[in-house]
Amino acid sequence: MVIRDARFLTSNTKVELCPAPTMPEYAFIGRSNVGKSSLINKLVGRTGLAKTSASPGKTQLINHFLINENWYLVDLPGYGYARVSKTSRTEWSRMINYYLRHRENLACVCVLIDSRHPPQAVDLEFMEKLGEEGVPFVMVFTKIDKQSAAQTRELIASYLQKMGESWDELPRHFLTSAESGAGRDELLNFIGEVNQE
Ligand code: GDP
Repeated sequence: MVIRDARFLTSNTKVELCPAPTMPEYAFIGRSNVGKSSLINKLVGRTGLAKTSASPGKTQLINHFLINENWYLVDLPGYGYARVSKTSRTEWSRMINYYLRHRENLACVCVLIDSRHPPQAVDLEFMEKLGEEGVPFVMVFTKIDKQSAAQTRELIASYLQKMGESWDELPRHFLTSAESGAGRDELLNFIGEVNQE
């Protein structure tokens, strides 16, 4: 898919105030610092479209971007800040659960995972939740430029093995780098294919 146009639409905390659900929507989420903003900017080819991480405790927002006038890219607030308060975590949980259950045009959630780390409980639990809610998702491994291709292969293989313990069918996965652009075309083509369905 060629990105012809990308623009910011709205930021808000309420699903009801999100843009009309008239187009398919792809939501990006992951632990803070996973490289979400960098990857979104790389995907749409616009530096600075998605802001780099808001600091913990700031209002957590659902950010909508309109891409090619025919699909929405959504930047969801990240999880797993070490220093975040319990109230803030509860608010995040409530907002995200509501979003996942009620956003009728949600085509797929892209769960971003740092390719360098072993499986983290917070990511596995989030994917479990997506499974329980029946929300389609893919795993997007980030920052693969940070290690050799052989190391990436090994890390991903052990990650998928771990996933295999709780999933009959493994979700689709992508290997990406916002630095080198690896995986960009694959992920965009995947979105293009789902949009054609
Ligand atoms: P966010 O908190 O998930 O939005 O993460 P950011 O996009 O702000 O990235 C967090 C840090 O990781 C920043 O210092 C980025 O420059 C760096 N980073 C993000 N993606 C990549 C990548 O693909 N490769 C490398 N080497 N660094 C990255």
